[in-house]
Amino acid sequence: MNIANIADLLKGKKKPIISLEFFPPRDNKAAERFEGVIDTLAPLGPDYVSVTFGAGGSTREGSYQLVDKLKNEKGLNVVAYLAGYGIGPDDITSILNNYQQMGIETIFAIRGDAPRDAEGFTPHPESFSYASDLLVFIKKNYQFCLGAAGYPEGHCEAESKEKDLEYLKGKVNSGAQYIVSQYFYDNRYFYDFLDRCQGIGINNTPILAGVMPIYSVKMMEALARLCGATITNQVREGLSKISPDDKKAVAAFGVDLATAQCKDLIKKGVRGLHFYTMNRSASVIEIIRRLKEEEML
Ligand SMILES: Cc1cc2nc3c(=O)[nH]c(=O)nc-3n(C[C@H](O)[C@H](O)[C@H](O)COP(=O)(O)OP(=O)(O)OC[C@H]3O[C@@H](n4cnc5c(N)ncnc54)[C@H](O)[C@@H]3O)c2cc1C
Repeated sequence: MNIANIADLLKGKKKPIISLEFFPPRDNKAAERFEGVIDTLAPLGPDYVSVTFGAGGSTREGSYQLVDKLKNEKGLNVVAYLAGYGIGPDDITSILNNYQQMGIETIFAIRGDAPRDAEGFTPHPESFSYASDLLVFIKKNYQFCLGAAGYPEGHCEAESKEKDLEYLKGKVNSGAQYIVSQYFYDNRYFYDFLDRCQGIGINNTPILAGVMPIYSVKMMEALARLCGATITNQVREGLSKISPDDKKAVAAFGVDLATAQCKDLIKKGVRGLHFYTMNRSASVIEIIRRLKEEEML
């Protein structure tokens, strides 16, 4: 049975929950390809899937359409993201009303970032400065279950890791009922983050680990720059033995690494594995197959 309130879903689960993140396809060709991706991933039975908002220049309508497709056409449990950057309260209200009408029960509230091509873009004067302000607004006006983002290595704009963690606690105090982490290539970043969360009093809020399989060297480098994830020596050394043009070998390396990360995370009792699919299916399918083969899921 689908439990669309993620906080409730987490309460009832002993094994880690599995979630898959998608972004709205950018054009018709990508949409056609995506159809195949979702039809191969859906049978894995993810506990929920999620749809990004505004990331990489995608549109609001694209997010609505994808949420609708995954929920109503594919029968999946869907979490809708809302990135508040630059958007005024009236627009935020209209987006939330829309998701409410669509039957969405959980909103993952993030600040978002300025568009990369910010020329001609003027943020609304009353837009929310931080995710915590957006969380307060949603909690005050709606009944949604709420999630927020956490950064094991610290957010790239953060004054310090300590300050970043204080702000994360602020997001929990503002209504976030679960946290999904940015991805990392060394689990020690995540375990250290969990310890620091405990230390600051984030004790009862489940934290899901973000997992980003390496899909290609170019994508890995670009995303690491954007997200602030350290490309570890282990990753650099592993990839140095493979030609970056050998796409299959790079992806296979990524699958081995992510599988090893997931196994270790599960052994250490992680509450959930959140896969950044980048709208691709093969790597995630293989990772989950291997975890199921060893009865870890
Ligand atoms: C799982 C996940 C999913 C994501 N999905 C999307 C998406 O769909 N669309 C999208 O556009 N982006 C997405 N992002 C990226 C995200 O929008 C960016 O990382 C953004 O830069 C920060 O968002 P946030 O919600 O963490 O911001 P915040 O929590 O607001 O933090 C932003 C920065 O401000 C600092 N800060 C926070 N509160 C305060 C305060 N009160 N005073 C001073 N400083 C403060 C923090 O330390 C941090 O450096 C996602 C990230 C993750 C981890």
